[in-house]
Amino acid sequence: MKELLLLLNDGVFIGFILLTALHSAITVGYFIHVSRVSRKPWNLKVSNDYEPCVSIIIPAYKEAKVIGRKIENIANLYYPKHRLQVIIVGDPETIDAARKHAQMLNGIKVLLLEEKERLGKANALNYALKFTEGEIIATSDADAIWSPDALKNAVKYFSDPIVAAVTGHEIISNASKNIHTYSEQSYRKTYYIMRLGESKIWSTMIFQGELALYRRSYLKYFESRPGYSDDTGTVIRLIKEGYRCIYIPEAKFADAAPPNLKDKIKLKSRRGQHLVNALTEALKHKIKGMFPLPAYIALANFYMHVLAPIIQLTIPILLVVSLIRSTALVTSILLIAILTISMLDKNIRSLAELYISSSLALTLALIRSMAGTRSVIWEKIESMREI
Ligand code: GDP
Ligand code: MN
Repeated sequence: MKELLLLLNDGVFIGFILLTALHSAITVGYFIHVSRVSRKPWNLKVSNDYEPCVSIIIPAYKEAKVIGRKIENIANLYYPKHRLQVIIVGDPETIDAARKHAQMLNGIKVLLLEEKERLGKANALNYALKFTEGEIIATSDADAIWSPDALKNAVKYFSDPIVAAVTGHEIISNASKNIHTYSEQSYRKTYYIMRLGESKIWSTMIFQGELALYRRSYLKYFESRPGYSDDTGTVIRLIKEGYRCIYIPEAKFADAAPPNLKDKIKLKSRRGQHLVNALTEALKHKIKGMFPLPAYIALANFYMHVLAPIIQLTIPILLVVSLIRSTALVTSILLIAILTISMLDKNIRSLAELYISSSLALTLALIRSMAGTRSVIWEKIESMREI
């Protein structure tokens, strides 16, 4: 009791309480709002039998090991073969491997493009874009596997001319492997409720290149400035131009999550850096009155991906400092006991892993972004390609 009074008199502890309350109010409040909207119907005219020609571009750098599996995956799509074009763009070794599997794509127009020198993913996409013939351009990664009905389900949304881009739903193929992959799967549930709510309101700014479709006549080019991503970077431009860019749950794809903390932080901080830059740009557009997405969506996303990670790291530090300053021994022991016992529960453990890994990765992303480190090429994560 005496300890509690001491704590309540401590400025650092008050800071801890206020920051926690503010952070929870913003994140939980936003989540509750968008999850309500996510259950509303689409305000779109969607025709089930809309079947335009689609060009699928697969950028693949040093992917000889997985490219055969990806080609087989495309061959199995429920979509008329004569309305498909597949373009694989990559280094000569990957293209050679692709050529060996190309007979699986019988009936589909196939183009294999060799990159003489490494261009980076976005530049490779833009190079391939010049050769596309479809009305719809799809992108996928060599290591991502689409569900057979994913393309068919995604394409139909383009029957409404306001739609410029559609992205899909990732299933973590190795979710049961360990806590790092399991926590990624848990996180995806919340993540997709937010993406669906935002899409129903107007658009989501966060896209996934593993399954992304664009209307050719609106697309023009993929964002390729260093520090921006081909998916989210491109979509922000399309939203600015007045079109809708949406996530739909019924276009599923499978991808592995990094199975260790090091690779997870590597992946999330690289993707996070792209997000930090893109979401900052979106907010700037909004401030200038040039962005049709509601201000609270732009602000909430900026908060969650740019500011919240630092706040999430600050919160436990404030708690520990205030406990030490107030020499609250009994409270500290009690807290440690509660924390230890709750760690026995797998879901709480996974929540803790997520809190730590995403706060660290996104803080790192922010530091990199502010330092101006920008690169168009990166090292692939081998642990995500174990078949
Ligand atoms: P991550 O999922 O964010 O880790 O990104 P990946 O490393 O899986 O890259 C996504 C896709 O882009 C993969 O199919 C890569 O092979 C491909 N990719 C990455 N860099 C390049 C590049 O420089 N050239 C080409 N052609 N493809 C690339
Ligand atoms: Mn990948």
